[in-house]
Parts: sequence; C-alpha cells; structure tokens
Amino acid sequence: MTRRRAILFVADGHRDDFLRPELCPNLSGFAATGRRFHNHTGNFPSATRASAASIATGCWPGSHGLHGNTMGLPTDEGTVVHDVGDPAFVSSLRATFGRTLKVPTLAERLAPHGGVLIASNVSPGAAYFQDPDGYGHVVHRAGSFGPDRRPLGEEEAPVVTHDAAGDMALSAWFCDRMTRDAAPTLGVLWLCDPDLSMHADALGSARHLAGIAAADACFGKLRAAVDAMRASGDEVLLIACSDHGQETVIGHVAIGDELVAAGLKDSPTSCEVAVAPQGGSGLIYLAGEGQARRDAIAAFLVAHPHVGEVFIGRAMHTVGQAEGDGLAIAFSMAHDAHQNENGVPGRIWVCTSDSKPGKPVGQGSHGGLGRWERHPFLIAQGGGFVPGTHEFGRTRLIDIAPTILRHLGLPRDGMDGLALPRN
Ligand SMILES: [Zn+2]
Repeated sequence: MTRRRAILFVADGHRDDFLRPELCPNLSGFAATGRRFHNHTGNFPSATRASAASIATGCWPGSHGLHGNTMGLPTDEGTVVHDVGDPAFVSSLRATFGRTLKVPTLAERLAPHGGVLIASNVSPGAAYFQDPDGYGHVVHRAGSFGPDRRPLGEEEAPVVTHDAAGDMALSAWFCDRMTRDAAPTLGVLWLCDPDLSMHADALGSARHLAGIAAADACFGKLRAAVDAMRASGDEVLLIACSDHGQETVIGHVAIGDELVAAGLKDSPTSCEVAVAPQGGSGLIYLAGEGQARRDAIAAFLVAHPHVGEVFIGRAMHTVGQAEGDGLAIAFSMAHDAHQNENGVPGRIWVCTSDSKPGKPVGQGSHGGLGRWERHPFLIAQGGGFVPGTHEFGRTRLIDIAPTILRHLGLPRDGMDGLALPRN
C-alpha cells in the first residue's frame, strides 16, 4: 500500500547564494529535479532555536512563544534572561508558564498518524523545541527521547560528535532508521554544518566551503535513502533547506551595559530592564519601574549608530514577534552590503552580553535582518511540486509545516504559514 511520508533536511546556516554546483553538487542537482524557492526568508531573530520552533509549528515566534536564542522569563523581581540552547530551558519555560510552546508541533499533530523522528546535531534547545512535550522521537547528543520523553539508550539512539563527522554519523543512522519497516511518517535531519564552520572562520574561507561540502555529502546519502523509500512504494515529499544565513561580524556592542551607562537600566544584573542578545539583534524586556522607560530606551536605540531597525510594542508584529510577558522592544543591529576579504557580501554588528560575547570580528554570525543572514535556501521535491521550476515570490520558515501536512492529507489549521505553491 502506498504510504505518504515526508523528509525534512536542514543544513544549518547555509546561505542561498552559496548553493552552487561546484560547492554542493548533490543539493544543486536536487534543485534541478524539484522546485527551488529563491526568495525564502528567515525569521526575526534569524537564529536557530526560535526558527526550529517555527519550522516545527508553522507559527511565528510571537505565536509559539519561543522568542529567540535567548529569552526573558518573568520572576517576582522582573525579567531573567535564559539561554534557550540549555537542555534545562524546556523545564524552566514549563515551570514559568505551565506549558512549553503555545501551539502544537508537527510531532504532536502526527503522533496519531505514524509519528515523527527528529535527528538534530545543533544545540539541545534547537532539537528539543521541535518536540518539547515528547510526542515523537528526538535524537540529540545531549540526550535522546522517545514518546512521553522516555530517555533512549545508546542502543536505541546514537551519540555523535558536534562536527562534520557527527553530522555524517547521524545521517547514516537516520537513513537506516527511515528506510526500515514501521519507520515514522516524518523524519527531520538537522545538521550543524555549514553553520558551525561559518562561525569558526571567515565566510568564503576554506573552512566554510568544507562545511558546505560535508553537509552536501550527508544530503547525497539522504537522497539515496529517499530513492529507496520511493522504490518500496512510499510517496515521499523531500524538502531541503536551511534556517538562516550568516554575515561577517563588524564589531560588538554590549547594549545592556550601554543602557546602564545611559541611566536607562539600574545595573548590569538588574531585572527591571533585561536585554536578550540574539547575535545580529536583541530583545528587551521591561518590568516594574522599567516599563516607564520604554520610549527613552527606544529613542536611545534609534540614535545608536550600530543599531538598525527598532520595533516597539505592537510594531513587533511586523517581524513575527508579539509584546507580552515583559517583551516590549525588538531591534536589529546595523548591517551593510560590504564584502569581506573573500568577496562575500553582508556585514553585521553583534549585540553581546557578559554571558554572550558574540563571535569574533571577521567571522560569521547571524540573528538580525541583514539580507544574507535572512536568506536561507529552500527546495521541495515530490508531493506534487513541479520538477525543475522556480518560485520567486516570498516564502517563510512558517510555510514548511503546512506544506508537510498538505502532502500527508492532514488539517493545517491554527498555523500562521501557508502551504508552498507547487507550480
Ligand atoms: Zn541555525
């Protein structure tokens, strides 16, 4: 019997303009057999963890409730900023609000329809927020879980290294698992490269290009597995994409410390005004006495030479965020189109804090609204997508989940995104 299934492949951080035949022959060849989306745009912030939740839910961060790579949680004293990548953050979020995400994930929606396997080699937070409540299987080096968050032993789930070799080992295990009998309906394979390599050196460097090649080799393996699934009668939708791009770091600004110096925040550790850095952007939470400083803080940011766009209160909706639970201001850092020493365009300033020092000047980072950090690639094949075609209309991360549900013939209610156009 024909079974409809879907595979989502994510090469973290892979810029659309680096999807070239000489760098990644497997992905480029795949684009020629599917529909390529040339104007795919990342979230705000263009950072992995909240983006992973958007891909998993089809909703903006303002709807699913995970604001960024770091986010503030309300306490009696004000707002405390947490690292969402920390494996313990799922529990912190649940303890604060009595829930994790505000909307269901694909793992929850597909639990009665064959289930989901998520194999991720990025941060624990980015893995766990695709299925924070334990409906499917999540495989990650920091700990793997089955339904009801049952811990999986090493005989059930691999523990791989956080590098290209780990990506390949995870890919091999994933391909084997997805081609067995009784494999889940949806499989998500999320690699750490090329993002890891882009953060570690200049964009366009040998290290960056090696990261692209490593991810491409994993995709080659996956395509062979999908061919096997199709040969056994499955109707497979295969989506290959990234979650954001990267740009070159120009310099660092500790916005929280500068607010203290400007008299707009009581101290570096005070909770009435809290800054959650997101690389090329930041989020500001206000509580108690801090709430009266909103307009003064916004004016400070607007006048800052290294801050880009500023979104206050309801205006945050224009970038997919929502005010509430203390979140009052969102801002991007300044960005430009200058090239680095390797001729790669796009540079950003980075927002930092003591615990988030940012990537070094000259290396890659992301998180803001720069043209390239917000331009990941996207290709869809199978599921009725017309082979060899191109879409130039804007698409978003939130459009992926409804596309998967359309292919599986399941309802896609309650999502902010729309299923991708097939022709
Ligand atoms: Zn990422």
